[in-house]
Amino acid sequence: MKIVATPELINIPEIRFANLLDEDPLGEEFWKHWLGAMRYRKLRRHFSALSESGALATELSARADKQGPTLATHDARGMRRDRVVQHPDYHELERLAYGRGIVGIKYDAAFLAQHREVRHLAGFGAGYYFAQSEIGLYCPICMTDGVGRVLERRPAGTQTPLYETTIAHLAASDLENLWQGAMFLTERQGGSDVGANTVTATRQGRRWLLNGDKWFCSNVAADAILALARMPGGAPGTKGLGLFLVLRQEPAGNSGTIRIQRLKDKLGVRSMATGEVTFENTVAHLVAGENEGFKQMAEMLNLSRLYNAVASVAGMRRALLEALKYGAGRNAFGHRLDELPLWRAAMADLVAEHLGIFTLVFETVRALDRSDNGDDQARKLLRIAIPMAKALSGKLAVFAVSEAMEAIGGNAYIEESILPRLLRDCQVLPIWEGTTHILTLDALRAIQKEGSHEALFARVRLALSRVRAFDTGPLRARLDDDIGRLEMLLKRPVESQQREARQWLESVGRTFTLALLLENAMHRSLQRPCLAAYKRLFVRPAGVMPVCHGDPAGLADTETVLLRSAIRNE
Ligand SMILES: Cc1cc2nc3c(=O)[nH]c(=O)nc-3n(C[C@H](O)[C@H](O)[C@H](O)COP(=O)(O)OP(=O)(O)OC[C@H]3O[C@@H](n4cnc5c(N)ncnc54)[C@H](O)[C@@H]3O)c2cc1C
Repeated sequence: MKIVATPELINIPEIRFANLLDEDPLGEEFWKHWLGAMRYRKLRRHFSALSESGALATELSARADKQGPTLATHDARGMRRDRVVQHPDYHELERLAYGRGIVGIKYDAAFLAQHREVRHLAGFGAGYYFAQSEIGLYCPICMTDGVGRVLERRPAGTQTPLYETTIAHLAASDLENLWQGAMFLTERQGGSDVGANTVTATRQGRRWLLNGDKWFCSNVAADAILALARMPGGAPGTKGLGLFLVLRQEPAGNSGTIRIQRLKDKLGVRSMATGEVTFENTVAHLVAGENEGFKQMAEMLNLSRLYNAVASVAGMRRALLEALKYGAGRNAFGHRLDELPLWRAAMADLVAEHLGIFTLVFETVRALDRSDNGDDQARKLLRIAIPMAKALSGKLAVFAVSEAMEAIGGNAYIEESILPRLLRDCQVLPIWEGTTHILTLDALRAIQKEGSHEALFARVRLALSRVRAFDTGPLRARLDDDIGRLEMLLKRPVESQQREARQWLESVGRTFTLALLLENAMHRSLQRPCLAAYKRLFVRPAGVMPVCHGDPAGLADTETVLLRSAIRNE
């Protein structure tokens, strides 16, 4: 006899979404607060469209991930013609994202005329809902926007019509006209140490030609690629690098000079093609030459690191959403999971962590808007806030998705759930666009060269000055402690500074987060969740980086012993 399973017997809630914005009333309160209710009403259609795309993407992404891209190297006549073949669902994802203006709106004249001062907040806010399903394609989206930004902000005197045409293609919403972007920096010998790059640029008449290998090239079949290459006779290190735009179809046949050697077999972000490339006399257009190339590239890195941070909070958000829905429909020991004290406590910590890092990341996005509109203090703040937001959110995403997976249990370990893909995808977020170490050192450089910590402390104080009817004393004490520790750190030898910097960044990042939670809590509709998150995060150890209760520099002598003891030494 066949037993008919009743819902109580199955005990596995079915989780489906039609629109991810509809699942996020608190998110909507933030958008209203930050954008202004009137403006948000005007922009809501855009948010809603990409949030619907996010929901629709769930199944498409699962298939595009399982049946990832392949490389076809020859045509039917045996001629070498490298092409990346994508699953049709990936193209559908492209339509759901680019086709609904995920990049295009940020370059749209009518949008900019009304909303320039919130260009990035609106763009990242809506994109956040798409990224909750598809972190793979969010990378090409990031780079398409990033190439557009670099070309928009190229040095004066390079106003070529070609760049204007390229920007128009990057912003296109119809896939036929769209040129997607990419950024080829990393070479085989190392990604962090960009100054060691060896791909060369040579001049041939009025043209520039690139030669050499790039080792990690995401969105490898992109139409508009920014690449760093060593200028003829250029200085060693990053100073001698020029920044070039490579267009696949301009001049005709250029595509054939960009050899795709192979596609990477990656842990995650598998829907999107990452390859190894050789430039073979590839025609390139100089965007910024010696001494300027790497600096100009920073425009792209600033944006791409923010995309990375938004992808991190998006991945966390999706994992939480899945776990909370599951906990409301799954029973254990005669109770729903979300009634069990330990389960509730663990999830409350995760929701608090998400809320905290969400405010930090989007404050950084808002600072980019302020900076682009001429606010110099915001520009200084960004120098430290971007590496901080990227570093902290990337680590937190991996931790949070892993916790959410466990909170669901075995069913989240199975590929029918989105959690395995989220975990694999999120694992790249602390690595690409600069590892946590590299970002920590970047923040340290920003402090030492540009005094960017002053802008950060000023922003924390400003937030605290806006807080009413709440004792900010403990947080002020925490800020003083961070300031004192930085003063001590900066007096230490360079090696000790580096050892301690990561822990300091984590600590001050938490202080900044707490201040932002309090500031947002002053808005009535955000008050209760922000104060609740503040309370939890104030007493939680800061994030997931190593926390050392002693003096890290004092432990330096243990490093050699431990590192040598762990492997056979020749
Ligand atoms: C899926 C994927 C896609 C990618 N796509 C692109 C792309 O499209 N374009 C592109 O240009 N790159 C891309 N990358 C490369 C990525 O940006 C690099 O992997 C990253 O920057 C790190 O470089 P690396 O892997 O060479 O590690 P390395 O630079 O060799 O570093 C190895 C380790 O040493 C640490 N380290 C290095 N220097 C220091 C230091 N001074 N102090 C302390 N620790 C240090 C690093 O933190 C890291 O843990 C991609 C990578 C992945 C995984």
